[in-house]
Amino acid sequence: MHQLDQILSEVAGYHPAADINMVRKAYQFAAAAHDGQTRKSGDPYVSHPLAVAQIIAELKLDVASVCAGLLHDCVEDTTATIEQLSEMFGKEVAYLVDGVTKLGKLPYSTREEQQAENFRKMLLAMARDIRVILVKLCDRLDNMRSLHHLPPEKQERIAAETMQIYAPLANRLGIQWVKVELEDLAFKYTYPGEYEQLAAEIAKTRAERLEYIHHVEKLIHKEMTENGVPCEVMGRAKHLWSIYQKMKRTQRPFDEIHDAIGFRVITDSQMHCYQGLGVAHSTWTPIPGRFKDYIALPKPNLYQSLHTAVIGPKGERIEIQLRTNEMNLVAEHGIAAHWKYKEGKPLAPDDDKKFAWLRQLMESQKELHDPTEFLESVKIDLFGDEVYVFTPGGDVKALPKGSCPIDFAYAVHSSIGDHCSGARVNGMIVPLRYQLRNGDTVEIITNPNQKPNKDWLKLVKTARARTKVRYLLRTEQRDKAVALGTDLIDKALRKHDTTLARAEKQLANAAKELKCQTVDELIVQVGYGKITTQQVIEHAVPGLAKKGEEAAPKAESMLKTLLRKVTRRTSSSGIKVAGEQDILVRFAKCCSPLPGDPIVGFITRGRGVTVHRRDCDKGLDLDPERRIDVEWDGLSKAQHEVSIQVLCADKPGLLAHISQSFTDQGVNISQAHCRATDDGRAVNTFHALVKDLDQLKQVIRSLSRIKGVFSVDRVSADIQS
Ligand code: MN
Repeated sequence: MHQLDQILSEVAGYHPAADINMVRKAYQFAAAAHDGQTRKSGDPYVSHPLAVAQIIAELKLDVASVCAGLLHDCVEDTTATIEQLSEMFGKEVAYLVDGVTKLGKLPYSTREEQQAENFRKMLLAMARDIRVILVKLCDRLDNMRSLHHLPPEKQERIAAETMQIYAPLANRLGIQWVKVELEDLAFKYTYPGEYEQLAAEIAKTRAERLEYIHHVEKLIHKEMTENGVPCEVMGRAKHLWSIYQKMKRTQRPFDEIHDAIGFRVITDSQMHCYQGLGVAHSTWTPIPGRFKDYIALPKPNLYQSLHTAVIGPKGERIEIQLRTNEMNLVAEHGIAAHWKYKEGKPLAPDDDKKFAWLRQLMESQKELHDPTEFLESVKIDLFGDEVYVFTPGGDVKALPKGSCPIDFAYAVHSSIGDHCSGARVNGMIVPLRYQLRNGDTVEIITNPNQKPNKDWLKLVKTARARTKVRYLLRTEQRDKAVALGTDLIDKALRKHDTTLARAEKQLANAAKELKCQTVDELIVQVGYGKITTQQVIEHAVPGLAKKGEEAAPKAESMLKTLLRKVTRRTSSSGIKVAGEQDILVRFAKCCSPLPGDPIVGFITRGRGVTVHRRDCDKGLDLDPERRIDVEWDGLSKAQHEVSIQVLCADKPGLLAHISQSFTDQGVNISQAHCRATDDGRAVNTFHALVKDLDQLKQVIRSLSRIKGVFSVDRVSADIQS
C-alpha cells in the first residue's frame, strides 16, 4: 500500500468524520512543492514529510496536525508561503506550519543542564499551540531515524540536541514511545562504541530472553486470572539507553543488570490494579522501597500506574507495572491521548484553554513531591511570567515578563549593565524600554562613558538590575555630597578666617560632637543636608559662630527669608523645619511621605518647603543647596494619601475582601483603579488615607494575608495607573 493511503486509512480509522481530502490535498501540494528535491538518502524529498505525517497519525492527532506534518518543510525549503497555505488549508494549518518553521530556526548550543532546561521551557512557551511541539517532535523522530545519511559531525550535533532537548520534551509531554526511540537513536550516535557493544550483548541472549519473557508472562497471567484479575500481560526489555544508564549508575556489567525486563499488567479497572498488586505481592516477595502508587498520586505529566519490583520465579528481580487500558494509553501517548477531536469542527476555545493549562502542568513538573505544592505552583503560573531570550552566542537567559534590555545586560554581567548604552534585538536597534519577547536574540551595545541613571529604575524588572542601578546611583550621590559638603564647609570656615585644610583638628572635634565617625563622614552629612554648616561652625570654632550672621549657609538664609514671607498657619503640618514649627510645608506628590518615613525638605520659591521621602528619586535630583533638615513633630493628626498596589487573582469576591480589609484597619479608600490582566490576574491601585507609616504597614500586612493576593506594594504616585 502506498504510504499516503496508509495514513489516510489510519486517520479515517480513529476519526471517521475527518476530511480525508484535506490530507490528500496537503500531500499533493507538498509533493509538487518539493518536486525535484531529494533527501541525502537519494529518496524524493516528499518521503520525509510523508514519514512525519505517518508518525503524527500514529499519535492519533487531528487532521490539521497531519496536514501540518505533510507541509512542515514547504515554507522553509520551497517557494510556498504561509499566506498560500492559509488560503488553501486554513489558518489553523498555516499557524502550525509557521510555528514548526520558527522552532526550527532557534539557535541551539550545547551547554550545561540549565541552558537545556531553559531551551525546553522556551519551546513550550513559544508554541502557543501544543500541536506545534508534537509536529516538531515527529519531525525530529523521522530525522533521527534517517540520521545515518548525514556526515558524522552533523550526526553528533543533532544527536546531542535530541538527547538534551527533544527526548526530555517528549518525556515531559508523556509520550513514552517517542521518548524511548529518540533516546536510543541519540545514544547510538553519541556513544557509538558503547551502543554497539550493548546491542550485541542483548542480541546474543535474545532467544533465551524471549523464552524467559514468555514464561514469566504466562505465569503472571495465570496468577492474576486465577485470583479474579482479568488482564493482559506484556514483558519487554527496557530500552538500551536506560540499561546503559543503569550500568553506569551501578557500575555493573550488562549481565548483572537483572531488572532489564519489565512486565506490564493491563487490566480493566483501577480496583483490579490494586487487587493485582496484592496478587503479585502475595505470590512473589516484594522488594522493599520499590512500590510506587502513581494512581493515587499521578506524575505531573498525568502518568498513572502502580510500580513494584519482586523476586521473580527464577530468583531474579522483576519489575511489574499495573495500570488500566486508559492509563496505558496516556502512558504511551501522553498529552496526545488527551486530544479529543470535535467532529470536523475547529478546536473549541474551551479545548484550547484546556491545553494551555495542560501545557503549564507539564511545565511545572519540577519533581514536586507535595501535590498541594504542585497545584499551587500551577495556579500561580510561574512559567507564564518568564520570557526566554538568547545571547548572541546562543545561550538562553530566563527573565521575568516585561524585562528590558537593561535587565538582560545585568543578567549577562554587571559591567555590561553598568555601561549599557543601547541594544540590538534580532539585529535591529531598539530603545532601552523595549520589552523583551520569547526567542529574541539580544545584543547589548556598551559605552565606557555610559552610566546608569534614575530613569532606569522605572524600566528594569529584575531585582539584580534594580539593586545594581540603585547602588551606583547612591555611590554617585555620595560623591556629589562629598564635593558639596567640602565646598560648603570650606566657604563657612573662610568667613571665620580659616580653611578646611587648616581647621583639621577643630573639624575632627566637631565630627566627634556631632556623632560622626570621621571628618569625611561629617562632610558627607553636610552635603546631604543632615548637618548644617551652622552646627559645624558652632562646634569647630566655639565662640565665633555668633559673630558672623552672614556665615550661615545658603539654606539657612533662605529659611530666614521664608520665615519673613510666610504667614503663620493655624493648624500644624506635623513637620518641624530646621527646628521651627509652623512653616508652610507641602508633601511631595511623587513619594507621598508618611509620618515615620525618613524625610528631607527642599526650600521652594514661594511655596515654602516641600517634603520628600529621603530615598525619593525626584528628591535626589533637586538642588542640594536648597536642602534643609525637616523632621516629624509627632503632633499632627492629619491623614496622608498613599498609593497601594495589590496584585491578585482575578476572581469574584476578592475585591470585596480587599476593601473590607481596609475598613477593618480603619482606613478609607479615596480612589481605586482595577484592571484585569491577560493572565487571569488583577492589578488594583488604591489611594488610601492613613495616619502614619505604622498604620500603612498594618494595612499591607492584612492585605497580604488575604487568600488570592499575590503581592502588596506601596507605590509612588507616578506609576499608579
Ligand atoms: Mn522536517
